[in-house]
Amino acid sequence: MQRASTLGELKRGGYQFLTVREEMRRNLLAKLATSERILSGIIGFDDTVVPEIENAILAGHHMVFLGERGQAKSRIIRALTSLLDPEVPVVRGCAINDDPLRPICKQCRRLTEEHGDALPISWIGPEHRYGEKLATPDVSIADLIGEIDPVKVAEGRYLADEETIHYGIVPRTNRGIFAVNELPDLTEKVQVGLFNLMEEKDVQIKGYKIRLPLDIVIVASANPEDYTSRGRIITPLKDRFDVQIRTHYPRSTADEIAIMEQELPPMDRFDRVLGVPQFMKEIVAQLTFEARACNEINQASGVSVRVTINNYESLISNAEKRAVRLGEREIVPRIADLHALAASTAGKIELEYSGEEKTGEELIERLLNRAVLKVFDKWLKADLLKDVIEYFEKGWGVEVSDMMKAEEYLDGVKAIPGLREGIRILGGVESPGFIAAATEFILEGLHLHQKLNKDREGGRFTYRA
Ligand SMILES: [Zn+2]
Repeated sequence: MQRASTLGELKRGGYQFLTVREEMRRNLLAKLATSERILSGIIGFDDTVVPEIENAILAGHHMVFLGERGQAKSRIIRALTSLLDPEVPVVRGCAINDDPLRPICKQCRRLTEEHGDALPISWIGPEHRYGEKLATPDVSIADLIGEIDPVKVAEGRYLADEETIHYGIVPRTNRGIFAVNELPDLTEKVQVGLFNLMEEKDVQIKGYKIRLPLDIVIVASANPEDYTSRGRIITPLKDRFDVQIRTHYPRSTADEIAIMEQELPPMDRFDRVLGVPQFMKEIVAQLTFEARACNEINQASGVSVRVTINNYESLISNAEKRAVRLGEREIVPRIADLHALAASTAGKIELEYSGEEKTGEELIERLLNRAVLKVFDKWLKADLLKDVIEYFEKGWGVEVSDMMKAEEYLDGVKAIPGLREGIRILGGVESPGFIAAATEFILEGLHLHQKLNKDREGGRFTYRA
C-alpha cells in the first residue's frame, strides 16, 4: 500500500481520526479477540498486573504503577507502545506530532489553511510516540512542558504567541504515551503544570496560558511508600490517576530464573560453551528471595530483580575466567564461584540500621548459605549421601577452589563411594564441568547440614569430617 504523502491522499485513503486512547483500545480488543499475549517479555504478571492494565486501557484510564525498585515498572510502561499502530500520519515538520485531520498547533493550523489538501504528511512509528522522564527535583516546567524561545521573541513575536514556545518533552509526545518515573520526586510546581496539562488541556508558561488540547496517555510510576506519604503528591494530580496498579516481585524462583535468563545479554564466548546447572540458577534466584525476606534489609525500597540478573552475570564471569585461564572448553559455574555475588549484591541492598556497625558482606554470606541449603534440600537428602559421609569419616579430605580444573574432580568421583549417584540425581555424569559443579554442591550441602567441616585457605576450601 502506498502511504499518503499529502492531506488529500490521506483523506482519499479513508483515514479516520482516533485519539491515542481509542487507538490503544482498538488494538487491545483485536489482541484479546485472538488471545494474543500483550506486553511480551514481561514475566510473572499474567494473573495480577496484566489483567489490570487491560481493564485500564479498555476504560481509557490514567494509570500509576506502584512498586518497589526493580519490579519492571518502566519495562511494563515501555511495552505499552506495542498497543500503538505501527505507523500514524503527522503533519510534516510539526514539533508535537499533529494529526493532519485535526492539527492543534498554530503553525499546523496555518499551514493547513495555506496548503489545503496539498499539506505534506509524514509517518511516525511507536518509538517516536513515547517519552519518559525520571522525576527529580531538578526537572523543570521548561523540561516537561516548554519555555519561551528568546530567539523567536527577538524575531518579533509576542510573548503570548504560542509560536514563541519551545516545547518540552510532554507536548513532543503528543498522540503517544508519556511516562514519569518516580512521580513523587517532581516538585509541587511541576506537578501543578502536569495537572493543568492533563485536566485543563492548557499549558502555562511564565504566566502565559496557552490552550493546547494535547492527546497523551500519561503513565506514572512510584514507590508505594513515597506515593502514599502525605504531601508528596498534590491531591488533584493524584485524583487524576484513575487506577493504581500494584506491581510485585516474581512470586516463584522459576519466574525469577526466567527473567534472569531473558536478560542475560548474548555474548561471544568464543569457542567455549556455557552450561549453567539448574541448581546454580536456583541458588542465584533463591539468594534474592532470601534477601527479600530478610528483616536486616530495608524492604520498603526492596530488592530489585536486577540483583538476580547482575549476580547471574557475575557468577558466569567468574566461571568464564576459570575456563579461559585453565584452557577449558566448558564454562560451568559452581559453588566456588559464588563469592563473586557479593560485589553485585552489596550495592543494591540497603541495610537496616540496627545500632551496630555491620558489613553487607557477612549478611550476604549468611543469605547465600541459606539459599544453598534450601536448594540442596530440594534436590537431595543428606541420608542419601551416607556413603559419601562415611568416606570422609575415614579421615579423607577433599580440596576445591574456583581455579581447579574440572577434570581433577573426576578422581573424586572414582574414589568417593556414593558421589556418582548424587551427581546423577543433579543432572548427569557426562560433562567434567557439571561433575565439578555437582561435587562442590554436594560437599557444600553436607557442610551446611553440619556433616562436613570446611576450612578456608585463601581461595581454597578443604572439606573433611
Ligand atoms: Zn503542529
